[in-house]
Amino acid sequence: MSRDITLLHPEVQAIIPKFLDECKKQGLIVKVTDTVRTKAEQDKLYAQGRTEPGNIVTNVKYPYSNHNWGMAFDICRNDGKGAYNDSDGWFAKVGAVAVKLGLEWGGNWKGFVDKPHFELTKYGDTNTLAKKYGTPENFKKTWKEVEKYMFVERNYSYNGKVKSFKVINEKGENYIKLRDAAELLNMKIAYDNNTKITTLDDTLITVNVEVGNKKSTVKAINSGGFNFVKVRDIADFLGFETGCNETNNSVFFKLKNSILDRLKLFRK
Ligand SMILES: [Zn+2]
Repeated sequence: MSRDITLLHPEVQAIIPKFLDECKKQGLIVKVTDTVRTKAEQDKLYAQGRTEPGNIVTNVKYPYSNHNWGMAFDICRNDGKGAYNDSDGWFAKVGAVAVKLGLEWGGNWKGFVDKPHFELTKYGDTNTLAKKYGTPENFKKTWKEVEKYMFVERNYSYNGKVKSFKVINEKGENYIKLRDAAELLNMKIAYDNNTKITTLDDTLITVNVEVGNKKSTVKAINSGGFNFVKVRDIADFLGFETGCNETNNSVFFKLKNSILDRLKLFRK
């Protein structure tokens, strides 16, 4: 029998952590002992107390247990006072928590009472499921992932620029996509498939420069509060060419030929 919660219906999977948390808050330490049951496992369990030794623990054949449909799980207490010790009404307290979260508790059943059993019946009982889907395999094809997290829209600003991002709100903290944070901060983000390392390059930022009606965006390095732009970029933007003057070891700025040609025309 499986203990694997990830085999359960996504909606049951989503409820379990909330259920365990809420129980814990009330001092009830719960352990999930049994989740999905295959046909072979259900057959074996049904034989117990009938054709095999032991006590009868189930009244249903495959596929008429919600465990077969991924809609049920069993628990025990995990506080060291005995896994099924109910002398203090422990199971009823846990059952009340489960019912508040929309689960059905086996302890509330008439006839065959099953205190460690919990199930989600919003898709109908096993007769309904069997009629509608035929097999648990078919039912499984209809399962959709449940969004585990709560997304909220938040505005962030940097250097006067405001951007809105969808962030995950989890236990009072906001989690922003690394890519979004990089975008806001004008950082370059790169992921190396081999090393599995994400690098943020903060050496290059973007600055907007404007002269007259000419506008451009150039890369810059910010140091000591000043933006340092590439000599070649700013020269180009302002209409200059640059070159090396080896006689006095300097870089010279010269108006671009196209501008010189225009000036010549002007003089004529
Ligand atoms: Zn059960």
